[in-house]
Amino acid sequence: MKKLLTLAVAGALVATVVGCGNKTETATPAPAASTGAAATATPKAADTGKKPTIGVAIYKFDDTFMSGVRAAIADAAKDKATVDIVDSQNSQPTQNDKVDLFITKKVNALAINAVDRTAAGVIIDKAKAANVPVVFLNREPLADDMKKWDKVYYVGAKAEQSGTMEGQLLVDYFKAHPEADKNKDGKIQYVMLKGEPGHQDAELRTKFSIQAITDAGMGVEKVAEDTAMWDRVKGQEKMAAFLASSESKIEAVLANNDDMALGAIEALKAKGYFKDNKFLPVVGVDATAPALQALSDGTLLGTVLNDAKNQGAATTNVATALANGKTPSKETTGYDVTDGKYVWISYKKITKENMNEAK
Ligand code: BGC
Repeated sequence: MKKLLTLAVAGALVATVVGCGNKTETATPAPAASTGAAATATPKAADTGKKPTIGVAIYKFDDTFMSGVRAAIADAAKDKATVDIVDSQNSQPTQNDKVDLFITKKVNALAINAVDRTAAGVIIDKAKAANVPVVFLNREPLADDMKKWDKVYYVGAKAEQSGTMEGQLLVDYFKAHPEADKNKDGKIQYVMLKGEPGHQDAELRTKFSIQAITDAGMGVEKVAEDTAMWDRVKGQEKMAAFLASSESKIEAVLANNDDMALGAIEALKAKGYFKDNKFLPVVGVDATAPALQALSDGTLLGTVLNDAKNQGAATTNVATALANGKTPSKETTGYDVTDGKYVWISYKKITKENMNEAK
């Protein structure tokens, strides 16, 4: 009886913490206090016959694309896992504390969108010591860190693919609209709005978008480049600065994501663009809902679908398989697993013509 009581109290504690954490979301109700679901020392949910609990830490909630992934994680978890999703508030120390708390709460698996992807090693060490499998998403850990333990996985998309597609969108436009080469020098004069430095998507989209233009046999010249940290307001500010210093030279805008592209569009609107035949091609990545609206308005030229729905679902499925003591595979997760550790979700070029495919 005493043991039962202890279990119930411990269960109540877990349920309370899951329900009341700062900026915490729980997709399905936490286990009822009387079940004492997470009170045993056994991390593997399959042993208890209960739905596993997955501790999910997002780098920050205030990110348009990650909000979509977050919703997809919760949605996919509905019938198979309880997800406890927390905001790391763009601070790696905060995220490390959240991971410690998840481990103390005996979650069955972790899903981590690292604040600083080079800090993954520290998280892996913690997870391994507690034998809690970990799935990273969106911010790819360094290859050496991925090798630290066999219960470490990554769900994401090939950054270079999105860069290549972005560049191709501009190439297609310049081929169809020779007048877009305003100074008729055969080169695309562009400005680049970069995401967070060091993020694989920022570095590789910047590099491969330009490479796609040269690969297509077109000349290309950088007028200006700056980071706007994935942020719409910063994108607008940086674009306003580019326009102030070099408006007459700019023929195209490449942004590493849609939020920054939309910020750039605001700055361009303030200078009279997108009416009276005044146009500048702007491309982004993500295909978020506001970006699709801009495509249909004719302000955004093109974007690349960064498939939040499948990235979220794959994260949930891989974490759930691991939590249930299974090895992630096509059979156990519904997604192909490459090199025993990686789930790659494809990008897709999106313009006004095929935008329904991104909805
Ligand atoms: C997205 C960005 C997002 C970033 C967060 C990227 O894949 O394209 O919109 O801000 O991930 O890590």
